[in-house]
Amino acid sequence: DVRVRFAPSPTGFLHLGGLRTALYNYIFAKKYGGSFILRLEDTDQSRLVPGAAESIEDMLEWAGVPPDESPRRGGSVRPYLQSQRLDLYRQAAQRLVEGDHAYYCFCSSQRLNLLKKEALRTGQTPRYDNRCRHLRAGQTQEKLAQGVPHVIRFRLDPGVEPFQDLIFGRNHHEVAQVEGDPVVMKADGFPTYHLANVVDDHHMRISHVLRGSEWLISTSKHLLMYRALGWQPPAFGHLPLLMNKDGTKLSKRQGDIFIQSFQRDGVLPEALLDITTNCGSGFNTNRIGRRVDELISEFNPSKITTHSALLDLDKLPEFNRIHLQRRIEDEEQCRLLVKDLQAQVRQTCTAEIQEEEVLHEDYIRRVLRLRKGHISSLKELASPAYSYLWVRPSVSSQQVAALTPEAQHIAFLVLKLIAQRDGELAVDLLTKDLKTLAKQAKATKYSDVMKLLRLALSGLQQGPSVAEMMVSLGPAEISHRVQKLVL
Ligand code: GLU
Repeated sequence: DVRVRFAPSPTGFLHLGGLRTALYNYIFAKKYGGSFILRLEDTDQSRLVPGAAESIEDMLEWAGVPPDESPRRGGSVRPYLQSQRLDLYRQAAQRLVEGDHAYYCFCSSQRLNLLKKEALRTGQTPRYDNRCRHLRAGQTQEKLAQGVPHVIRFRLDPGVEPFQDLIFGRNHHEVAQVEGDPVVMKADGFPTYHLANVVDDHHMRISHVLRGSEWLISTSKHLLMYRALGWQPPAFGHLPLLMNKDGTKLSKRQGDIFIQSFQRDGVLPEALLDITTNCGSGFNTNRIGRRVDELISEFNPSKITTHSALLDLDKLPEFNRIHLQRRIEDEEQCRLLVKDLQAQVRQTCTAEIQEEEVLHEDYIRRVLRLRKGHISSLKELASPAYSYLWVRPSVSSQQVAALTPEAQHIAFLVLKLIAQRDGELAVDLLTKDLKTLAKQAKATKYSDVMKLLRLALSGLQQGPSVAEMMVSLGPAEISHRVQKLVL
């Protein structure tokens, strides 16, 4: 059975790097008919951020990569919060101690700090000197009996633990020499990441661990723990890092990479999934506009390279534009967009809206169909650039006079044209009609006729073509606005 997991620590909110790791796991699970598990690694109690755990799961749901098993959904290997699995870690640590793979360490934090200072002073990497390894059984028992605070450390014997990474290939890291024996159980009774991770991946029957490449160097250590516990390890695949396009680290401190801020800014989840996979590898094609089901069918793990993925967020509006277009073209999703836009318009133009017709579903659908492919966010339509869609403009006679002396005549021609068309308006046809019409205005050049109509219809100097504006507003509203030029 394929079982993969996303195992974030709720020490912060979900950001793009995390979403991408979750996404690759999700895709892998779905491609091979397996399960995608969300496990929250909340063992560092001092760094927990209130609300982060719930929010991470919310954001996965929002993004369209919902877990099959999770703290909220439950599942056969629950609980999915590490803080509720402390017994399992204690048992494992106990087994390690009994098998002489781990030992109690009573070194005080003062001693450890001194070691660290000394190392830094002499230009060495700080590492634990493994002193408590050499305590005799009697000494250990005595200290335990006295209640001396302690941790449990894993005994890392020198040597390399080679392994085959699904992405990075053959790997080996000299673990023992680097940092000394690592802590597996902390003084507060919580496990460290390394132990908890191994214990959970075992008990949760994880088949493949797909995680960020920053964990590549820890994997040898994890494999040694699997061996010491007598467990079969999962397969490991480390995903290349996600970086800014200039190769700098995608920092969590840039508030704008949090999924919640994209959501707030009207970014569509499928656009986010598309852009984070598009800059990476692992897919047969890299076209823009793929939804998650297409990502699954185009996924090809043998194509994941070890290069960092360079993310260009300047391209996000383009991704969003294309995905918004797809949504507009889908009957069901368009209905939701209509609701969303109605709410946004009500909120931004509350006082001014007199005409409830503009909030009518048919009207909004028509606007969306006309604007699809041009707008990169629904929000644009509720912005001042599109105010004419929702409120009538006020146009002064000076503005009109500045454009042409024959405004009345032009208005009359437009009213006649609309009457002739009898409610049937289409952009192509109207574009031609307007050209013909402009010729009948002798004293005004074509571009000024257009400026005049644009002004009358929208009060603006820029925007969609005049023909498109007319089609979206519809005959009655065009007449109403153009009539003002006559009076
Ligand atoms: N809690 C770790 C993290 O947030 C999980 C690493 C792993 O997937 O093993 O990165």
